[in-house]
Amino acid sequence: MHIAIAGGGIAGLAAAIALARRGHRITLMERASEFSETGAGIQVGPNGVRALAALGISERLEPAAVYPQRLAVHSGTSGRLIAESVLGARIEARFGAPWLTVLRTDLLSALLAEARGLATVTLRLGCAVASYANTTGGVECRLADGSSVAADALVGADGIRSAVRAQMLGDGEPADNHLVIYRALVPATSVPQWAREHVVNLWLLPGRHVVHYPVAAGGLINIVAMTRGKWSGTGWSAVAEPGEALAGYAAAATTLSDVLKAPVAWLKWAGCDRPPAPRWSDARVCLVGDAAHPVLPCLAQGAVMALEDAVVLSALLPEAGDPHAAFAAFESARKARTSRVQAESRRQAGIYHLSGPVRLARDVVMKSLLAGDQLTERTAWLYSWQPEHTRPDEENAPGSGT
Ligand SMILES: Cc1cc2nc3c(=O)[nH]c(=O)nc-3n(C[C@H](O)[C@H](O)[C@H](O)COP(=O)(O)OP(=O)(O)OC[C@H]3O[C@@H](n4cnc5c(N)ncnc54)[C@H](O)[C@@H]3O)c2cc1C
Repeated sequence: MHIAIAGGGIAGLAAAIALARRGHRITLMERASEFSETGAGIQVGPNGVRALAALGISERLEPAAVYPQRLAVHSGTSGRLIAESVLGARIEARFGAPWLTVLRTDLLSALLAEARGLATVTLRLGCAVASYANTTGGVECRLADGSSVAADALVGADGIRSAVRAQMLGDGEPADNHLVIYRALVPATSVPQWAREHVVNLWLLPGRHVVHYPVAAGGLINIVAMTRGKWSGTGWSAVAEPGEALAGYAAAATTLSDVLKAPVAWLKWAGCDRPPAPRWSDARVCLVGDAAHPVLPCLAQGAVMALEDAVVLSALLPEAGDPHAAFAAFESARKARTSRVQAESRRQAGIYHLSGPVRLARDVVMKSLLAGDQLTERTAWLYSWQPEHTRPDEENAPGSGT
């Protein structure tokens, strides 16, 4: 089939690679004039690492990846270690794949290099998909410049404010969760030695939390600080006002402050998502990635769900013929799992930001969960995903991820 893809982010590029490998011809249309290599770090759990392997890009990522050995949860006010969980070899032994961290830019570059190496993939930049029309035996993608592209199917991978979704569902703006997310990347040499170790550090404070971990083969530290607040900008990279990101950290523990003072500037984006959509497909058109199921970053699964989508969609799409049934099968294969990730990510933000006496109870529960294998087992539904899975594993209880 000739498949048009709207959007050249992680979802669109991964779909292009996976579908081209199955013999389809791809025209990927990206609105931006270049592939945007911005963004901070991404944690990739074992399910994502397996999806990367299925896409054939593990080796390209290898030199840039960091394999964290532990997850350490701290009180952001006292500095006390609340709980610790072993990642590294233990996660790999349990789930058959490691946990890694990479720069979003390194992941995007690896996908782009792979896509560019595939003869049946055409990448078009400065090409915004404005609307589509299902026609007899095909789909017409109408571009913002007035031209159009005819294809057998259209995959809408155009992000949280997807034009394809807007036409398909007309469900308006994403949900504003009243969360502002600040991010910074700093040289590893600018943070204390303990913060350069291959550890994911999570700091919990009332109404806010901070996560930091090494990326770029350990050369950079990714710092993300999520705060309850109102800001409704639409981009991923607005520049925060001086002092804005750190307002509210006056009572932070010295150890945390030592990391937070490293960035000279912070970027920010609004913590938006959407509730699960009633459907993701319309005849020959299908949504994937953030266009279908945007999530808050609290489970570190937004990019990973996009990678999984690509692998599952490519396995379900037939070589030729009407893709409608395959799109419906894709939706039913993915809906329960991605809806659960959406809900768990929201729930996680609430747990991290608890205040008052209830946060002490939370710390006790977290300590007992992370100390044994309980957390690993409660997150098995998420991390044990295999590329050949087309149905979610519903056997396990909800997880309490990171
Ligand atoms: C610049 C950028 C920085 C990000 N930084 C972070 C981060 O630091 N942390 C984090 O957790 N998540 C970040 N994300 C989001 C994260 O990458 C996504 O949640 C996840 O990877 C799913 O990706 P996606 O491809 O579905 O959506 P996106 O990554 O949003 O990609 C969508 C792509 O579609 C393009 N597009 C949009 N509309 C159209 C259209 N009408 N026609 C054609 N193309 C279109 C966009 O330019 C973009 O390249 C970032 C996304 C972007 C675009």
